[in-house]
Amino acid sequence: MKTTEDTAYAKNNQSSTSPYTLDNPTIEKAVEIIPFSKLYTTNCEIDYIIQAISSGQVAGDGAFTRECQKWLQNTIGGQKVLLTHSCTAALEMAVILANIQPGDEVIMPSYTFVSTANAVVLRGGTPVFIDIHPDTLNLDEMQIEAAITLKTKAIIPVHYAGVACEMDTIKALADQYGLTVIEDAAQGFCARYKNRPVGSLGHMAAFSFHATKNIVSGEGGALVINNPALTERAEIVWEKGTNRSRFLRGEVDKYTWTDIGSSYLPSDLLAAFLWAQLEQANEITQQRLKLWNRYNKAFAELELRRKVDRPSVPADCQHNAHIYYLLVNDLETRTRVLANLKRGGVQATFHYIPLHSSPAGQKYGRTHGSLNVTEAISDRIVRLPLSAALTVEQIDHIITLVLQELRKTT
Ligand SMILES: *Cc1c(COP(=O)(O)O)cnc(C)c1O
Repeated sequence: MKTTEDTAYAKNNQSSTSPYTLDNPTIEKAVEIIPFSKLYTTNCEIDYIIQAISSGQVAGDGAFTRECQKWLQNTIGGQKVLLTHSCTAALEMAVILANIQPGDEVIMPSYTFVSTANAVVLRGGTPVFIDIHPDTLNLDEMQIEAAITLKTKAIIPVHYAGVACEMDTIKALADQYGLTVIEDAAQGFCARYKNRPVGSLGHMAAFSFHATKNIVSGEGGALVINNPALTERAEIVWEKGTNRSRFLRGEVDKYTWTDIGSSYLPSDLLAAFLWAQLEQANEITQQRLKLWNRYNKAFAELELRRKVDRPSVPADCQHNAHIYYLLVNDLETRTRVLANLKRGGVQATFHYIPLHSSPAGQKYGRTHGSLNVTEAISDRIVRLPLSAALTVEQIDHIITLVLQELRKTT
């Protein structure tokens, strides 16, 4: 079945200047559609996929998988890195490795993607949602301690928009109470905190290479294991609960079922795609930062006039330009800004519906303290298109549409 989204995508993919008629038939002006996250490719993806096919090894844990894992390990550090088919899968693995059992509690922000919480709920655990900072939109580390109970086993900080959470404070609390820290680093690839790579800061970290992230393989992810005590079990959970990895290394003479697990490996075809992107990770990040800075400079004036708040990046954090967002003053303004962008062919968006207010969040989770900031931000945020595949002209077009709407009112 074709949805309208498929049709819009097909149209958009035919040519970058495909005509799109405005709702108002009297205007009759053709505008180019700027997608929210335009796919950037390095031109090497196809070559590497062909190499993988020619090698005859297209299952998981092949040559490209190992190459990617080695690269990630060299770049991020950590005891072990395992590619997964998504960040969702990496989070599920991390929660298994943290030994989350029915009734255990895990502290996390409500302002995050569903996978952060789902991973915990799948093990019978309870997500405990706390509020975020109004400037970075990262979980408020000062509210963690009061949310800790005898059942608390872990904390999952989410590095929102590639700006690291206040990890020193979080890690100190975790050490004090014996908790596991799992970084949801889905958005944090190539970002740094106090000059340490995001992903090296918790006991484990989960990355995403989903099509909407900075470095992509369509669907994809990685689990970084920093705690040496967890590496052997991580390989087992990754390989359907078997000791197949040890068998492949010749450490045991047959492999067998030894623990719970699932199939968390991506095909080496996807690892081949990912390898092409990793080779250009630095260039891609630099290009995104350039466009991010262009947005940020253009909206300084609106911030001075109190029309918006721009993203806030603490001095300790080196971000990766994952998201460019603006916080407008209210929901009504946001609706107008998004409508004007849509009229101009720009696919801007918002998120998240706070997890504590969603049906599953209410059923499976609980909150600690007020979530006022989370609720307010969810109404005020506008996310603008950002991709290394966008041009400066496209960014300027988007800037013009935002300024046009927000300069209207005094
Ligand atoms: C994208 C995202 C995920 C899920 O990533 P997948 O690779 O699509 O599973 C999880 N958490 C956060 C914060 C994300 O942004």
